[in-house]
Amino acid sequence: MTGQWAPVEPPVAAPTHPAGPQLRSFDPGALHSFGRPPGGALVLLHPRAGAWPEGPLVLSITSPGFQHITLQRPGAPPQDARMIDAGEGRWPGHGRLVFDVPELPAGGEPLRLHVDARDAIPSAMTFELRSVSDHLRADARWLAFATACLTTMVATALIALFFGLCLRDGAFVLYSVYVLTYAAIQGAQTGYFMHPLEWERVAATVPAWGRAVTAVSVVAAVLFLDRFAPLERWLSSMRRWLWLYCGLMLVLVAMGYIPTLQTTARQLINPVLILGGPLLLGTAVVAAWRGSRYAAIFLLGWLPLLGVTVLGSLQLYGIARGWTWSGDAALAAGAFEAIVLSLGLAERAASVRRQRDQAQALADQDPLTEVLNRRAWQQKVQALIAAGGPGLSVLFLDIDRFKQINDRVGHDGGDRVLRLFVEVLRSVLRERDMIGRYGGEEFVVGLPATPTGEACAVADRIRAALRDASPYAGMDIAFTVSVGVATLRSGESLDVLLRRADAAVYVAKDRGRDCVVVGEGEAVGDAVALLQ
Ligand code: GH3
Ligand code: MG
Ligand code: MG
Repeated sequence: MTGQWAPVEPPVAAPTHPAGPQLRSFDPGALHSFGRPPGGALVLLHPRAGAWPEGPLVLSITSPGFQHITLQRPGAPPQDARMIDAGEGRWPGHGRLVFDVPELPAGGEPLRLHVDARDAIPSAMTFELRSVSDHLRADARWLAFATACLTTMVATALIALFFGLCLRDGAFVLYSVYVLTYAAIQGAQTGYFMHPLEWERVAATVPAWGRAVTAVSVVAAVLFLDRFAPLERWLSSMRRWLWLYCGLMLVLVAMGYIPTLQTTARQLINPVLILGGPLLLGTAVVAAWRGSRYAAIFLLGWLPLLGVTVLGSLQLYGIARGWTWSGDAALAAGAFEAIVLSLGLAERAASVRRQRDQAQALADQDPLTEVLNRRAWQQKVQALIAAGGPGLSVLFLDIDRFKQINDRVGHDGGDRVLRLFVEVLRSVLRERDMIGRYGGEEFVVGLPATPTGEACAVADRIRAALRDASPYAGMDIAFTVSVGVATLRSGESLDVLLRRADAAVYVAKDRGRDCVVVGEGEAVGDAVALLQ
């Protein structure tokens, strides 16, 4: 096909164009925008070989946006269609407007179209005549592709929304608003709402909310980057401009719904929307440059979409007309971004969790010996008791004459001895045994599922291992420990169990140290009577 077009004279302007419209040539196979002439544009499509092929055929028009397009054929009523209308006499659009052309004009007469962009943003289109079977094949492919892209966006957004609400993390919620609004814009623009979704009522309201949703999408993207990067850490001063931008955008959206301010709002909203691109890009690049890993992930996900959007805008001005895939690429880029950003969010959640686990581990640790501190040890053993773990025994270990060790090797030397003591404990104990520093040179060990006899054997192995570990070679330093052993009785609390073990240590000290004593005492009020 070859094409010609001319702006249509509106009735009032007729006297200014006495010679009638001047037809200009264009290539129907490349993207072409007819702008927004007041009376719309007349488009003539001619057969290249002078005569049309045999019908029936379909006329497929890519990326028409929300422009009204009317096909006029001699002897047939005009077929009027728009992406968001049901449209008589046309096939389901699926990313394009498709008119049924059962018969082509005789004698190679042109197909006449009227393109009206008065209440829409003009977009660059291509025109193609295809056989019905070719069209159905291409259409099935497009439908599968668009469904995959839109489903990816909606699914990742809904999962993120769920996590955002559970984790109370605003970044997830903003991501989901951003992706859902983008998917809504694509769903409307490609006609997916009309078919296969058949959301005619929703599609009919698109002109009322289209701009507002686009604005909300951009605001959500800006706020998402702010949280995700997070910008507070990398460029706190520049954030003011972002807030200002978001505020301005939301004011314009609100103005769009006030009748007296509507015209001003409509004039301003598009330039402000376009400003969002460079603002977001600049912010993300600076944050990534300064070291924000997440700003870099944002850029990775968003740049293909930005590229396609910029390309689409340039195509309105006649640049890169041959790249007719740009409309579909916007869908693919949206799905790609949704995947990259959701992976980024998952990575961020994992890293927050890692940091929290590290902080928790540090809070639970004794800094000198890196075993559990008293509070954490008690918590862990308490949890074990609550879970009903059978046969729990505890060892209460008090290093003998530690003050003397300190006196001989100094406080730092004493610290080293404490660490060595823990190493000895670890070498003897099982992975699941719980070591805690009770205070000073006193340690406690929880031995799950260990009867008293076995616990005593463990304590003896510790004593034996200590004998082999000489903290200061050549110095005659006695390195021994007195151990109290107690095994949990049914209904006994951890406090009482520990008191029994502690009391046994006193007995061990009385007996001359370096020995193991079992705390057999019965709890009587606060006191523990040793029976051994
Ligand atoms: P006993 O055999 O009766 O247990 O005698 P002991 O000297 O071990 O007992 P005592 O409770 O009298 O002294 C404990 C010493 O442990 C006193 C204190 O200075 C020392 N100590 C407590 N905490 C630390 C520590 O973190 N580092 C070092 N180097 N010494 C500590
Ligand atoms: Mg002591
Ligand atoms: Mg001691």
